[in-house]
Amino acid sequence: MVCGRSGDGWKVVGARAAWAIAVSLLGWFAGEARAAGYRTVNFIVEAPTENLARKIGDAAEQYRQTLAIEWTGSPLPRWSRPCPITAQVSPNLGAGGATSFVFDRGEVFNWTMTIQGSEERILDSVLPHEITHTIFASYFRRPLPRWADEGACTTVEHPVERARQHRLLIEFLTTGRGIAFPEMFAMKEYPADVLPLYSQGYSLARYLIERGGRHKYVAFVADGLDSDNWSAALGKHYGVTNVAQMQHVWLAWVKQGCPAPPSSLAAAVPPPASAWSATTRGQSPDPRPAGASPAAAAPVATSAARTSIYSQARRSTAGTPTTR
Ligand SMILES: [Zn+2]
Repeated sequence: MVCGRSGDGWKVVGARAAWAIAVSLLGWFAGEARAAGYRTVNFIVEAPTENLARKIGDAAEQYRQTLAIEWTGSPLPRWSRPCPITAQVSPNLGAGGATSFVFDRGEVFNWTMTIQGSEERILDSVLPHEITHTIFASYFRRPLPRWADEGACTTVEHPVERARQHRLLIEFLTTGRGIAFPEMFAMKEYPADVLPLYSQGYSLARYLIERGGRHKYVAFVADGLDSDNWSAALGKHYGVTNVAQMQHVWLAWVKQGCPAPPSSLAAAVPPPASAWSATTRGQSPDPRPAGASPAAAAPVATSAARTSIYSQARRSTAGTPTTR
């Protein structure tokens, strides 16, 4: 799984090789050839300094433990082989990450993770995002729909990053770059215009998680994967008739400024585990991204914006990436 991200957004399809080269060149120019290593039970970290390698390795283990419980209810068993993490850390480096792995006959292995950014953003956004990919891969043992995977991974990023996704979402919905839900739910690969997939995926994952919690979200994805009937899975877990109805309900919610769910629903959602939000991150989470204000969402209310999501031409996806 690959999630390349620069300062202005995630760049995934087709940019992987160029991005990897850019990262290695950056490291070379920064004189970081002599990276320091640090080994934990499940990770082998290479970072510019010993201190950074230790911080990243310890944080990765903590996220792996607490986020697995947060999503699935149980910690992950130890991997048979550790996941190598290569970290490029610099204050002005755009935040991004890439995690690749191989599925074969119900198993997942050959982990590789590359992360980059400022120390703060690596620890509070890139690492939990990429670790969530490994948790999903270990739990489901098969690829998830891209929106459900990237969307959920973005919900564990820092509020600043989530607010940025919301601002981008409004921009995409008002400029004809929204993706119709039947198309988005059917996507098994990244679309050519990938950024709207991240923004919409995040927004829908957030909507569902705010109404049912993370365990229900995982159960919903598991049902959808098993049956390949996402309308039935939505109906069973969220009481929505079908995928098209989900789009209608979600769009209405976005138009209203993404209000919190009714208290009766919110009360049923278990509170997040404190460990990953308080200990590892060091920054207090903001339950409502700043960009989620009604004012920010107002442009979606125009009729032109409402129809734009329905009028997307079906795009052909370019090739099949070997990694995600
Ligand atoms: Zn990702």
